[in-house]
Amino acid sequence: MKITDVEAIYVSLPEVKEQCDSGQDALIVKVHTDEGITGIGEVDSAPLAVRGMILGPYSHTTSSGLKHLLIGEDPFETEYLWHKMYRANIYAGRFGIGLHAMSGIDMALWDIKGKKLRMPVWKLLGGGFRKSIRCYASVLFGNTPAETAEIARRIAGQGFTAVKFGWGPMGQDANQDVALVAKAREGLGKEIDLLVDAGLPWDAKTAIQRAQAFSEYGIFWLEEPLSPDDYEGYRKLSQATPVRIAAGEEESARNTFRRLIEEGNIDVVQVDLTRCGGFTEAMKIAALAADHGLPVANHGFTTYINVCAALHWLNSVPNALIAEFVAQENTNLREFLTRQKIRAKNGCLEMPQEPGLGIDLDEQAVARFRVA
Ligand SMILES: [Mg+2]
Repeated sequence: MKITDVEAIYVSLPEVKEQCDSGQDALIVKVHTDEGITGIGEVDSAPLAVRGMILGPYSHTTSSGLKHLLIGEDPFETEYLWHKMYRANIYAGRFGIGLHAMSGIDMALWDIKGKKLRMPVWKLLGGGFRKSIRCYASVLFGNTPAETAEIARRIAGQGFTAVKFGWGPMGQDANQDVALVAKAREGLGKEIDLLVDAGLPWDAKTAIQRAQAFSEYGIFWLEEPLSPDDYEGYRKLSQATPVRIAAGEEESARNTFRRLIEEGNIDVVQVDLTRCGGFTEAMKIAALAADHGLPVANHGFTTYINVCAALHWLNSVPNALIAEFVAQENTNLREFLTRQKIRAKNGCLEMPQEPGLGIDLDEQAVARFRVA
């Protein structure tokens, strides 16, 4: 089998609002083969920069568009192709955009392998740890504590056993920060786990104070309270609080995860399959986390391609803690782009059983929302 073409398709809602909701647009990758099998992947990053990274020209031995490197290659050789892309694009590709672009391609290659062998990706990765996984409903904080309580009450009736509130007005004011968490807890009631995603607002001392205040409301974890570059701050925070500290969605490639784990001493390693280097790298990140006694969780706030990819990965590692499942209501691109819509049942997501990723694009919707 040979790769014949690679596409990078930018789709977007007609209006992208300035808000913390990465589901308003998407960069879809398609890898075509000479056997008529097409693999799909997704990248959640700067979409047109990723498109340039994939479709750009060969420049020299350490800078090349990724498509150029893949044409004529065997899609089954995922480890080799990962390293070929990494080495041939090492100026732009050690982390960030280059790794992001590689993630969507790697995902599509595994989709091809699964479709050809008629097996779900998790089986090819050697997985099979579980039939389903507990998930948390992931939403944004309301604009006010009262609005947050309302959102919490609405989600509490949907069968989830855990809910995460993120970003929004968190970090603007100490009293409001605590009120947001208090109202989220009030709306959810006592039985549902409450996760807090701070959205990078604080320094270490402020984060220690907030972790202490939030612990009154029994939070399951505190996510990204600090800048992702503040490894020293993460270390101080982790040592000062019994609250689980989660981070990792800004990272790509396992070397940056290594710093978060070893220098930052974080407690939960969050991996976005559309940015970390795809399945090939995510398996190694999970092993790195396991070597440090840490659980992993996925990050994903975009399409069901990302959700599906995360499920295959979480089913292939022994240290999966919980799955993120975006439940933000005002994003409807996700509901159009794929033929299958993933739904949580009793607060859990079932593992995909179809060949490959087990999710197909709705080509009419892709055409309708396609910008580039
Ligand atoms: Mg987050």
